[in-house]
Amino acid sequence: MRMLILGSPGAGKGTQSARLLAKYDVEVIVGGNVLRDEVSRATPIGLKAKEVMTRGELMPDSIMMELMSQKVVGMGGRHFLLDGFPRTLGQAEGLDRVLGEVGKGLTLVANLDVPEEVILGRVLDRWVHMPSGRTYNLSYNPPKEAGQDDITGEPLSKRPDDNVETFAARLQSYHAQTEPLREYFDSRSSSTRGKGGGLTFVNLEGRTSDEIWPKLERAVRRRYPWLQAKA
Ligand code: AMP
Repeated sequence: MRMLILGSPGAGKGTQSARLLAKYDVEVIVGGNVLRDEVSRATPIGLKAKEVMTRGELMPDSIMMELMSQKVVGMGGRHFLLDGFPRTLGQAEGLDRVLGEVGKGLTLVANLDVPEEVILGRVLDRWVHMPSGRTYNLSYNPPKEAGQDDITGEPLSKRPDDNVETFAARLQSYHAQTEPLREYFDSRSSSTRGKGGGLTFVNLEGRTSDEIWPKLERAVRRRYPWLQAKA
C-alpha cells in the first residue's frame, strides 16, 4: 500500500488518515507535521517554515524534497500513507522520480472533494492535540472533556494557521498549486488502468468526514483486497 490523500485545507485529510491508521497496519507521513516538528525544534528550516505557514504559503519544493524523500524511500516495502505531501506539481514529479528509482511508485491517490462553504467553519472550530496530531471539532466531534485530549487528557490547542486570514491564503495556495495534482494523478492513472500494479485515482465527494469515510474504505479495499484490518 503506497497511498496519497489529497484535498484542500480542512477537507479532513488528517481525520481520514487517522481512521485508516486505526483500522490497518500502515504508517503515515504527514508533510505539515514534519514541518511543525522542525518549527518546534527551531531548526533553520523550522524558522523559515514558521513564517511561511503563518502566511498560508507553501515551503519551497527543494526543502520539501530534502525533508521528505528519505522518509518516503525509507519506507522500503512497508505500507504507507502520505498526507499533505506532495502539494505541488514539482513535488509530485520529484516524488515520482525517487519512488520510481526504487520501483515503488504510488498505487492509490484519493482526493477528498468537500464543498468550500463547509470547510472554513471546520477549520475555525478545529482543536488539535499537538503531540499526536489528533483533531477535534467543537461542533461535530468535540473532546469528552472540554479542552482535553480524549486519550491522554493533555491540553488541546489551536493551530496558529487556523484563522480566517491565514485560511484564505492557504485556500489560495491550494487552488493555485495543489489542485492541479488531481489532474496530474488522474491522467497518470488512466494510462495504467487495467494493468494491475499501477496507480488508481479516486475522487471522493462528501460534506462530512463520516460521509467520505465509507467511500474511502471501499476504494482502499478495492485497490488492496489483501489488506487485513487490525484485530
Ligand atoms: P497542513 O498541516 O497539511 O495543513 O500544513 C500546514 C502548512 O504547512 C501549510 O499551509 C504549508 O504552509 C506547510 N506545508 C505542509 N505541507 C507542505 C508541502 N508539501 N509543501 C509546502 N508546504 C507545506
